[in-house]
Amino acid sequence: MKKGLLIVLSGPSGVGKGTIYSHLLKIMPDLTVSVSATTRSPRAGEKDGVQYYFLDKGEFIKKRANGEFLEWAETVGNFYGTPKAPVIEKLESGKDVLLEIDVKGAHQIKAAYPDCVTIFVLPPSEEELKKRLVGRGTETEDQVKARLELAKSELSESVLFDYRIVNDDLDRAVREVADIINKIKGERKC
Ligand code: ADP
Ligand code: 5GP
Repeated sequence: MKKGLLIVLSGPSGVGKGTIYSHLLKIMPDLTVSVSATTRSPRAGEKDGVQYYFLDKGEFIKKRANGEFLEWAETVGNFYGTPKAPVIEKLESGKDVLLEIDVKGAHQIKAAYPDCVTIFVLPPSEEELKKRLVGRGTETEDQVKARLELAKSELSESVLFDYRIVNDDLDRAVREVADIINKIKGERKC
């Protein structure tokens, strides 16, 4: 059986990765999304096991020591990691899996799974990125500042990704990600 395709969607916080993948799932219902673990606190409306598995630092470190993460990173003051077993299981059973992760995690995945496809989502401008992060209203002023500071170095690494797309018009960005996935799937032999 043909293995599933591993897709990494990355880019700075607030660029619209989560928005893109939720729209992508509507037009690609067979795509599965990995639920990450994090030590950050849930935002209003977020549920454990849905947006994230919310762990305390000790639990995260224990799982990391047990080799339970495919990749992990400390970013914007918290730990984030992709649980390994469910991703491997889905790929082996032929399902495509999308990871929405930061740039450090994306590099780890590419090194371990060179056949994966990495897509970097760029903002139309740094001003627009700031507007989106502030507009989302989920971070404090200091947290927004830290995320924007990190975004500068992350943006400079976009050239290391297989594909780069600009999230200006949402529908077009979603279509571009779908086109990339369909193109790669069409070209794969195994
Ligand atoms: P990320 O997952 O990359 O952190 P989000 O998906 O949470 O980013 O998006 C951040 C904010 O930007 C949200 O309020 C979202 O509604 C908004 N947004 C996403 N894509 C666009 C777009 N193409 N145009 C305008 N606003 C957008
Ligand atoms: P947020 O706190 O806004 O949900 O996420 C902050 C950053 O962590 C985002 O850039 C997001 O893509 C990234 N992230 C989410 N899950 C993971 C993960 O499992 N691994 C890594 N490396 N980054 C993640």
